[in-house]
Amino acid sequence: MAVFDLARLITAAADTIAAHAEELTALDQAIGDGDHGLNMKRGFEAVRAEAEAFSAKPVPEALKAIGTKLVMTVGGASGPLFGTLFLALGKEISAEPDHASLTAAFGKAIEAVAARGKSQVGQKTMLDVLQPVHDALAGGKTAAETADIADRAADATIPMKALRGRASFLGDRSIGHMDAGGRSVALLVRAIGEALEGQP
Ligand code: ADP
Ligand code: MG
Repeated sequence: MAVFDLARLITAAADTIAAHAEELTALDQAIGDGDHGLNMKRGFEAVRAEAEAFSAKPVPEALKAIGTKLVMTVGGASGPLFGTLFLALGKEISAEPDHASLTAAFGKAIEAVAARGKSQVGQKTMLDVLQPVHDALAGGKTAAETADIADRAADATIPMKALRGRASFLGDRSIGHMDAGGRSVALLVRAIGEALEGQP
């Protein structure tokens, strides 16, 4: 059994992705190919379908199973990247994670995403939201504060020029639109934070 109710976190994540799928698609239509909403929804619904089985596993194994499922179902560029995030989180996290071990594992997981995507902060990708979220956690911010920081980080991708992923093909025309993957991260951070807060 997980030390917290993982099924509830999975439900919260899948719910927010489903509720915002059209918005994510619209963001990706502006500077990509318009599949991000559907990609994410397909992946998180696949995870939701196995929420009970995943929740019965120890936390590290559950996170790895989620990562593997996301790699198999999300597709696009973001599937392997979100998959890597959860796989690496599962590899790094302790079986009974406290705040410090979660934060450290999250930092390693972001490094794994950057390595996989050959990307870094400042290139208008999901990393531009993941890194500020890590820094907020490391700085002891509350879940609500961290969610606000994630929203502002997603907003801050708007004036950036994309240097990685499909949006980079547009060059300067990628400026003026929010990065879809970054928005997904912000949505997940808020939903998971709210679900965690409701737990003992
Ligand atoms: P695709 O670009 O293949 O259509 P998606 O639309 O599902 O895939 O995902 C696009 C998102 O993936 C982008 O908004 C960006 O956040 C993220 N992304 C793409 N390439 C990279 C990369 N090399 N490093 C980090 N994130 C990336
Ligand atoms: Mg796309």
